[in-house]
Parts: sequence; C-alpha cells; structure tokens
Amino acid sequence: MAVNQEQLQQIVTAVVAKLQAEKKAPETTLGIFEEMNDAIAAAKEAQKVMQKMPMDFREKILTNIRKKTQDHAETLAKMAVEETGMGNVGDKILKHHLLAERTPGTEDITTTAWSGDRGLTLIEMGPFGVIGAITPCTNPSETILCNSIGMIAGGNTVVFCPHPAAIKTSQYAVNLVNEASIEAGGPANVAVSVVNPTMEASKIMMAHKDIPLIAATGGPGVVTSVLSSGKRGIGAGAGNPPVLVDETADIKKAAKDIVNGCTFDNNLPCIAEKEVVAIDLIADELIYYMIEEGCYVISKEEQDRLTKTVLTPKGLNRKCVGRDAKTLLSMIGVTAPEQTRCIIFEGPKEHPLISEELMMPILGIVRAKDIDDAIEKAVWLEHGNRHSAHMHSKNVENLTKFGKAIDTAIFVKNGPSYAALGFGGEGFCTFTIASRTGEGLTSASTFTKRRRCVMSDSLCVR
Ligand code: NAD
Repeated sequence: MAVNQEQLQQIVTAVVAKLQAEKKAPETTLGIFEEMNDAIAAAKEAQKVMQKMPMDFREKILTNIRKKTQDHAETLAKMAVEETGMGNVGDKILKHHLLAERTPGTEDITTTAWSGDRGLTLIEMGPFGVIGAITPCTNPSETILCNSIGMIAGGNTVVFCPHPAAIKTSQYAVNLVNEASIEAGGPANVAVSVVNPTMEASKIMMAHKDIPLIAATGGPGVVTSVLSSGKRGIGAGAGNPPVLVDETADIKKAAKDIVNGCTFDNNLPCIAEKEVVAIDLIADELIYYMIEEGCYVISKEEQDRLTKTVLTPKGLNRKCVGRDAKTLLSMIGVTAPEQTRCIIFEGPKEHPLISEELMMPILGIVRAKDIDDAIEKAVWLEHGNRHSAHMHSKNVENLTKFGKAIDTAIFVKNGPSYAALGFGGEGFCTFTIASRTGEGLTSASTFTKRRRCVMSDSLCVR
C-alpha cells in the first residue's frame, strides 16, 4: 500500500510522540495531593491499615525503602544539587547510602515487661497515628527517607511539609516511599505531601485534629512555630557547632578531621564544624596543617568583602549557602588555587562570619589562652542551641569539662563531625537531631508513644 506525504507525516508525528512519552521521567505523584486536608485524610486511611500490620510486614516495607534509597541515591543527589544549588553530588550520594544502611527499623520498637504474683505488665511502643513532618532544603530527600523509615517502623504514616526550595526532590522521595509500600503489598499514602507546600499548607497541617505529633527539622523559626502549635513537637533546630582543639591533641589529625568534617556536602549538615577554638600554644601549628589540607587564608580586607556578600541586611545570603569554597571566593573576586576546600581566617568570637551559622565551608579560628578560656568561648559560640560540639584532645579531664559545659545532643571527640551520623563512628544514623526538645538523635522509638498494658493476676507462669 502506497503511503502519501501527509500520511507519512502523521506516522512520523505519532512515532515521535510515542518515543517522547516513553522517554519522559516516571510520574512522581504517588502520595502528592492538591489539598493538605486530602493528604492528611489519605494518610489516616493508610495508617489504619498500617496499625493492623504485623511488624514483619512493616519491616518488608522498610527493606524496600532502603533498597530504593540506594538505587535512586545518585538521581536524588543530582536532583537536590540542581534544584537547591547547594551541596555536592558525591557527598549526597554517601548520605543516602548511609541512611539506607543505618537508620533503625522495627528492631528499635521494644517492650519492657514486669512479671510477678499480680500478673504481667508491659510497656509497649505504640504509633501516634499520622505524624506531621517539616523538612529542610539542606538534606531534603535524606530527611524524608530517614523520617519515613523511623515513623513507619513505629506504625505511623506521615504527612510532609518540605521546604519550598526543594519541592521536586522531596516529592520524588515521597513517591519512592509509596512505591516501596505498594510493591511490598502495603497501602499507598504511607507518606504524603502537597503539590505546593506553602506556609498556609503547613499551618493547616499543624492545626489539624488528626495530627497528634509534629517533627520539625529546620532553623529556629520552624521549631518555635511547631512548639507554639499546642501539639506535641519534636524540635530539631539550628546549631553552630564549635570545634575545640587543645594542646594535647594530635594536631595534624585534628586539622585533617576538621577540614573533612567542615567541607562534607559543602558544610550543609547542621552538625558540621562551623568555627574553631584553638589554644594559643598550638594555633599556628593547627593553621599550618589546615593549609596543607586545602584551606585558603583570607586577608582582613577579603574578610570584610566576604562578610558583606554572605550576610546581607536581609540576613544570610541563600546564594552562598552550601556553595564550595572556590565559588565563594570567586564571588569576592578571588581566584583560589585548584585544591582549595575551605576558607579560613583568625578573628574574635564576635566576628559575624564566626558567630553566625553559615552552612558554607568558612572556618573562623578563635584563639584561647587556656582550656577554661576556650570552653567559655566555645559555649558562647554555640548560643545555647544544645545541638553539636566537637573536640580534639587526649586530656580526659578537658574532654569531660567541655562535654559538661557545652551540654549538646552531639559531642564528637577526636574525629570529624560526621562520625556522629555513623560515618567512621559507632551508632545509628538520623537526619533529625532533636536538639531543642531533648530527644537527641531520633529513631523509630522516638516516634512512638508509651502504652502500659496490664494483665491482672494472670499470665505469670513462674
Ligand atoms: P528553614 O528553617 O529555612 O526551613 C526548614 C523547614 O521549615 C522548611 O520546610 C520551611 O518551609 C519550614 N519553615 C520555615 N519557617 C517556618 C515557619 N515559621 N513556620 C512553619 N514552617 C516554617 O531551614 P533550612 O534552610 O531548610 O535548613 C537549614 C536549617 O535547619 C539550619 O538552621 C540547620 O541547622 C537546621 N537543621 C537542623 C537539623 C537537625 O536535625 N537539628 C537538621 C537539618 C537542618
């Protein structure tokens, strides 16, 4: 059969359209609703199914979430860097693998029992129901996936209000969680969110009668807002972690650990070293080794230009957050050597680039005359956030003294800050560190309520 020119054109158009449709990225709409109220209603229905599930079944869903997190680690890392402009792909991939491997699951849900003449009493960890979770743009998919594992392990479902600067990445992660549940034979909508996560949507979530618990991961504004909501809140707020180095430390190793910790994902993690307090006796040696590790020392005049660029009258310049050192230097007209990883300078603790939480690889170094002076300065710099602090020392008394004085959820000794997340350190991983409300590093058990279950005068078979 002969085909005329017009028919040929139609065939070509149809084939091209089909190929384009096949090439389109998979729809990332599972769990994403237009309206917040509808999202919460769907999560409530899913939670009813979840509550009846055996723990083994929950664990199957978690295994799938872990696998999908690993399979999509690179996609999520690239997507987050592209969407937010912050951080670096390699470190973000590592963070996804870490959370997939080391976020606790249902093994964290334990029972306490008393058995005796008057029967058997248990304390069980039960689900809250639908948890509201507000997530940051600095670790968007990491927080969503990590929260989902812990919250679902506890028998909850979750409604996410992600940061508007990371909507695409966050929705992609919510979709993966639902795919994981459905493929395991579980319900859809175990994690939900909305197309436009505005402040209005967040307010609806916070006030909703079906949300008994809100977990807020972010800066001081969101934590205060959640803690004022009248609901139970888990407040994972801002930090400004100082790292203290005393004269007994292995100075070369301290320099390496500090620069590695500070530059990880371009300093986005809230636990990362944000400023150094060094005892005068070893400060020069520390700076020498920090330069060997790729630090670039800026002059007083460059400090002033950098301060104006980073801290505008409206606050922290978002275009600087999570950028690498060379990009930051290029913003003030400095062409740094290829190996530059971190910007350093000496200054008083009140210097704005030292006292403010910047989330970029800039480390101000504050000198102290002795350990007591160093502790006083470091405690001041932490601003009472009670979040994270780090120290390099071989003196157990100094370590103990600083640990007590700083009173933070995280205190890493003789290692890079990320050891607290389980990278090169013992312990589980989380991206929600409840500094303000005191739960510390959250895990599945944090997202459960304690229920006393009493059988009177029976079931003790001793
Ligand atoms: P951010 O405070 O700008 O935003 C965090 C989330 O809160 C976003 O979803 C945002 O939309 C929402 N939000 C902000 N203000 C709000 C308000 N008044 N009411 C309701 N919602 C509000 O923070 P960010 O830039 O995305 O993340 C960086 C900050 O988060 C840093 O201060 C960092 O230290 C902190 N952080 C803490 C932890 C932790 O575990 N403690 C983890 C990651 C980040």
